[in-house]
Amino acid sequence: MHETESAQTSLSFEFFPPRSPEAVAKLASTCSELTALKPEFFSVTYGAGGSTRDLTLDTVLSVKTQTRVDTAPHLSCVGSSLDDIRATLESYSVAGITRLVALRGDMPSGTTGLGELRFASELVAFIRREYGARFHLEVAAYPEVHPQAAGAQADLDHFKEKVDAGADSAITQYFYNPDAYFRFVDSCSAAGIDIPIIAGIMPVTNYTNLKRFSDMCGAEIPRWMLKRLQDFGDDRESLQAFGIDVTTALCERLMDAPVPGFHFYSMNQSQACIAVCSNLGLAGK
Ligand code: FAD
Repeated sequence: MHETESAQTSLSFEFFPPRSPEAVAKLASTCSELTALKPEFFSVTYGAGGSTRDLTLDTVLSVKTQTRVDTAPHLSCVGSSLDDIRATLESYSVAGITRLVALRGDMPSGTTGLGELRFASELVAFIRREYGARFHLEVAAYPEVHPQAAGAQADLDHFKEKVDAGADSAITQYFYNPDAYFRFVDSCSAAGIDIPIIAGIMPVTNYTNLKRFSDMCGAEIPRWMLKRLQDFGDDRESLQAFGIDVTTALCERLMDAPVPGFHFYSMNQSQACIAVCSNLGLAGK
């Protein structure tokens, strides 16, 4: 048990906008279960080029109203004009939103038109220029290096640009190798970056989805884990129990470091998040 650390390790959970009445109901029950863990905030993802702008805002508002937990929309700039971004920020400001996850985003393959802001650092600078300190800004960080980066040092330099532009804290891409996180945090500190770097945690619950996401975002699944996951086949129960063990062990290593917080990529599901947080002594702090 981590009595001392648990007082300091914040929790947050990420959702995606639900697209059917069943998915809306599922998210409502997930939110109410996760609210019991006293998270610092929830966040809701955003489609590139503003494709889910209204859905993201609607979801943020309904989660916030239902749970009274601070809820942050993600906002990506790729494929959007400055006018679009300004309009989105204005709707968030009018709706009383005070926290944002500011991203570049990814254009769907086959589409063109990068938009007027090319990188997340430019989005952060734009938000600070237009809105001052109105929003608490989270940005993305990549302990295993962003897949399109020229190299680890270049990626770190660009991460620092986001921080210098005014980011308040960062959430990492998920990872299963804690040393990647420790080394990244050390490099940040050597580069003079002193914002909290929250560890992004993807509970392992499904082999096919995990493999697909990880191939897309460049997160490495250790070979031993992949092989074990493959072996479970259709035995979902054993796979999920294994996933909870692996995710708990990862978080325990991180808490010993210690880590400022965990941001769970919940996939709109509560069960694995709750199991891991209970194992860590973080449930119902
Ligand atoms: P940036 O920080 O702009 O970096 C992108 C790449 O450009 C990196 O390789 C970087 O090294 C390079 N770079 C940065 N600045 C420069 C420069 N000046 N010159 C040259 N190269 C540069 N995607 C979504 O579409 N919707 C979401 O809701 C979403 N939520 C996310 C939440 C988290 C916590 C994380 C970690 C990722 C999320 N993503 C989301 C994915 C993210 O949009 C992609 O990883 C995207 O490819 C990069 O976004 P970024 O904000 O990290 O970009």
